[in-house]
Amino acid sequence: MWEAPATREPPAPSIPRELYPKTLDCVHCGLCLPVCPTYRETGRETSSPRGRVYLMRGVAEGRIPLGEVVAEEAQLCLGCRACETACPSGVRFGALLEETRAAVADAGIRGGPGPKLERFLLRELVPKPRRLGAALSLLRVAQQLRLDRLAARLLPAGARHLADGAPRVPSRSQRRPLPSVVPAEGETRGRVGFLVGCVMPEIFGAVNQATVRLLAKNGFEVHVVPGQGCCGALQAHAGQAELARELLDRNVQAFSGEGLDAVVSNSAGCGAFLREAGDHGIAGGEEFAGHVRDVCEFLDAVGMRPPAPERRLRVAYDDPCHLVHGQGVSAAPRRLLQQIPGVELVEHADPTSCCGAAGTYNLTQPEMSAAVLGRKIRSLRDASPDVVVSGNPGCLIQLQRGAREIGWDVQIAHPVELLSG
Ligand code: SF4
Ligand code: SF4
Repeated sequence: MWEAPATREPPAPSIPRELYPKTLDCVHCGLCLPVCPTYRETGRETSSPRGRVYLMRGVAEGRIPLGEVVAEEAQLCLGCRACETACPSGVRFGALLEETRAAVADAGIRGGPGPKLERFLLRELVPKPRRLGAALSLLRVAQQLRLDRLAARLLPAGARHLADGAPRVPSRSQRRPLPSVVPAEGETRGRVGFLVGCVMPEIFGAVNQATVRLLAKNGFEVHVVPGQGCCGALQAHAGQAELARELLDRNVQAFSGEGLDAVVSNSAGCGAFLREAGDHGIAGGEEFAGHVRDVCEFLDAVGMRPPAPERRLRVAYDDPCHLVHGQGVSAAPRRLLQQIPGVELVEHADPTSCCGAAGTYNLTQPEMSAAVLGRKIRSLRDASPDVVVSGNPGCLIQLQRGAREIGWDVQIAHPVELLSG
């Protein structure tokens, strides 16, 4: 358990200077190239991790202008961090990318409607629960009247892709707020906070409910602490560093001092960002970050109580980038799923590569997103699973879209949906 920090420190500069030397960690070995989705698709050195680090270093040293080439490569990168896992030299690519995107945003280099729409969504909609809820209610009505399909034909390319790939919005009953405290079942093993998220309660309310149920069933009193909200991960990945830091700070303050054993997240992207709270100059950030756990990682560590009843299913687990590369968690979800009687875990050829969701990437880079998704879906389909499982909302939406586009009738689920029975 930990205490709330007494004071808040002043904001950190948007481009942390200590990151420049990190570009020097790259020894040009090229081990990251085969795992990089954009390099695999293009074969271009500038679209590889090594090429991008070279560009970043050049900008930092004043040899390369911060212009369109750098901006395009910063945007074409998925931010999947597969290169970090492959890198023997410890290059912190994700942090370098966020710094570069923030510099590009500050310099106002990116033009066109895509960046404006992205900025509007991430600033005015996603972190504002009422507006987001109202917008999604409207989308639900449009989906029921099939107006979304009409819109997908009439809108310009970037927005069309958004309308076309939008997830089905569930009914109000599945989007109702969680209780502030859910009591533990059986012998109490501890108290945990639960990060509700921004998109999760609106699109995956059933997953949030299943997560809380599963934690309670495992003996944990679950606290849905007030004052929490959108974590800021999407904004950070899009170069909106200041807003991202504000949102992260709000969450650190909300959860700190509540006497919790852990802060549990069921969204890989959110969890990875919360775990970096210590890097953003936020008071109490480091201590908070040390308490953040992915739900599968947490249950695996404490020992899951016997899970759901027998289910005869072939299950393909697909690693969310921000869980396997961002948090180093890959064995825990597989171990938990294998504990369900009757479940056969089937591996597929490409589990740790990006699905092309990557925050707002499918909005800003629709062609590359589709190419990366196509490779992923082919790999999954070749394994012939009954269910594809992945622990991140963006991945779930993207995989649903990919399956829909090829007419593949497969269930796409979050691990807790199977584990909670
Ligand atoms: S983050 Fe992903 S897409 Fe970007 S350079 Fe690294 S491996 Fe390639
Ligand atoms: S693996 Fe690491 S050190 Fe090697 S080229 Fe890639 S970023 Fe540089």
